[in-house]
Amino acid sequence: LLMAYDPAKRLARLQVSLERAVVNARMIYEILDLEPRQPDRPDARPLTVGEAKVVFRGVRFGYSEGEDILKGVSFTAEGGRTTALVGPSGAGKSTVIGLIPRFHDPVAGEILIDGQDIAHVTKRSLRNAIAYVSQQPYLFEGTIRDNIRYGRPDATDAEIEEAARHAYAHDFILAQPLGYDTPVGENGVTLSGGQRQRLSIARALVRGAPILLLDEATSALDTESEQAVQKALDEAMSGRTVIVIAHRLSTVVRADKIIVMQAGQVVEEGTHEALAGRPNGLYARLHNLQAPSGK
Ligand code: ADP
Ligand code: MG
Repeated sequence: LLMAYDPAKRLARLQVSLERAVVNARMIYEILDLEPRQPDRPDARPLTVGEAKVVFRGVRFGYSEGEDILKGVSFTAEGGRTTALVGPSGAGKSTVIGLIPRFHDPVAGEILIDGQDIAHVTKRSLRNAIAYVSQQPYLFEGTIRDNIRYGRPDATDAEIEEAARHAYAHDFILAQPLGYDTPVGENGVTLSGGQRQRLSIARALVRGAPILLLDEATSALDTESEQAVQKALDEAMSGRTVIVIAHRLSTVVRADKIIVMQAGQVVEEGTHEALAGRPNGLYARLHNLQAPSGK
């Protein structure tokens, strides 16, 4: 048991299970510390983060050559504020989010964090500034503690527990057979959707990153889970720059700014009040907010 406290062994263990686990790109998404596939530019500098303002300027991107998925996307996510991305399925919302940690690079245009083009900074420093919570949180084989520690491999047990408390996960963790040492993942205990999400949020919190990318779950959680997840997210979001792909109207309404996307473009932008007031706007139609038709 003592060996479990040796940080080098702990990391080695994490690395092994991580390599086994990484079988598709979506999983890697939550684990931003893997060695980037492409090396940094020779003149790359570390990112310096202040308020953590994120700016997209004329960003074009396709997954294959000649393909036009993002057709010149521009918007600003203000530092310390919440920006919600909404729009129909396939509009390009997840693609926008994936460009920020540089899983892909734009074909044209630029993405700036506090005025620095992210193409010119080291990927390590960029990804250190970002935490990501995906729609369907992935649990790796290992203990609950390991799963939170993926957020920051050198986190202490005390920091892990603190993150779990803030993510409203501590109580259900203690209720598991071995508490924080309970195995999860394929060969471990089964956790509910809401519990998995709260572990994923704890993983993001322990990272302590100034930018939080959040792909909100579409699947219905039971009411108790939904409330716990919402409280956990409120904790995670406070004081950070948040870009959230929002499916729930409650998240959208509370956002400081809403970006409405359709077919790879930003078609509307504003607060809920402003957008809901546009009778034929896409936002109003998406949320059935248009004025009665007068029949
Ligand atoms: P949204 O999140 O708004 O539903 P996405 O960004 O997931 O939209 O997808 C935008 C478009 O890009 C869709 O046509 C989708 O099929 C395509 N797409 C998304 N991810 C990939 C990928 N990894 N490879 C190729 N095409 C992709
Ligand atoms: Mg998506």
